[in-house]
Amino acid sequence: AQTERDLLYKIHEVANTFFQEQLYDTEEGRNVGLAYFRERELKDSIVRKFQLGYSPEQKDAFTEYALEKGYSKEILLSSGLSIFPDNTPGGIDRFRERVIFPIQSFSGRVLGFGARLLRNNVKTAKYLNSPETEIYHKSAVLYGLNHSKQAISKNNLCLLVEGYMDVIAMHQAGIENVVSSSGTALTTAQIKLIKRLTENVTILFDGDAAGIKASFRSIDLLLAEGMNIRVLLFPDGDDPDSFARKHPQQYVEQFIRNEAKDFIAFKSEILLKDAGNDTIKKAEAIRDIVKSVSFVTNALKQEVYLKEISGKFRLSEQSLFNELGLQKQVSQ
Ligand code: ATP
Ligand code: MN
Ligand code: MN
Ligand code: MN
Repeated sequence: AQTERDLLYKIHEVANTFFQEQLYDTEEGRNVGLAYFRERELKDSIVRKFQLGYSPEQKDAFTEYALEKGYSKEILLSSGLSIFPDNTPGGIDRFRERVIFPIQSFSGRVLGFGARLLRNNVKTAKYLNSPETEIYHKSAVLYGLNHSKQAISKNNLCLLVEGYMDVIAMHQAGIENVVSSSGTALTTAQIKLIKRLTENVTILFDGDAAGIKASFRSIDLLLAEGMNIRVLLFPDGDDPDSFARKHPQQYVEQFIRNEAKDFIAFKSEILLKDAGNDTIKKAEAIRDIVKSVSFVTNALKQEVYLKEISGKFRLSEQSLFNELGLQKQVSQ
């Protein structure tokens, strides 16, 4: 018998085809959607590869289409693709007048969608995503994994970026070992997906306050899963998307290799940026870094990291060990 899950997979497949048809086979789709992708310098081949689409302005275009195809109001509702407000007779589409990014499972099944506004607008969220459904658990999905898994294994390295466009632009630049947690803070379930392919992660987040905050959080979570991590924030307001479009592949690869730092160097650089000779700030920074070390699961690695901190700050390993012990007590 066809289960609710089967139907959800099916309707996402139908929607994915619909959004791509809208992009290529309608004037609106070509003038607005394809034009948007071209403005962002995406080649047609990459737009195809990532199965990008377009949801038209007409507020019930997909809902109508799916109802006509025999999908029920119930499944449209539980898929999150349609909304049925109390005071209107018919349903309306969740995604309207946006470009569409299908979110796929490890094996390439469409689980949900991300959708971007065409013009940034202070009143409306730039990205709108599918809600949690029986098939889409956003905390357990990594955007791009289905396209990137081979390159991640082959390079024995996973590049972790913030957004959809970052994954796609990196692929276009020829760098294919990239995934994104897309809009959610990185989770342990997502890290476990990466760990099946590699234990090495380089975090490539935006160089803004949000990116720094997210990288600090991600560092501790990754360490707790036993991952080896390096971190790089892009300079001057760049993100991987804008950076990869500005520079040739070789330069980007070299830049990542040379500029990504281990988490101790990365955190010290950020935390000590405006500490100057302020000893209190300096002590706080060291405690913060030792806190990250307390998440490391392997005792030997922990010691290696403490040695590095000891050398860097000219502190005895013993006092760092004591601090580590205290930190562990706090986190229990
Ligand atoms: P773009 O380059 O298209 O402007 P971006 O990926 O650089 O987008 P950021 O603001 O850096 O956008 O956000 C990173 C990621 O976070 C996005 O790709 C998206 O997955 C998610 N995101 C951003 N804004 C929102 C939002 N308002 N609601 C939900 N998710 C969002
Ligand atoms: Mn950002
Ligand atoms: Mn960004
Ligand atoms: Mn961007």
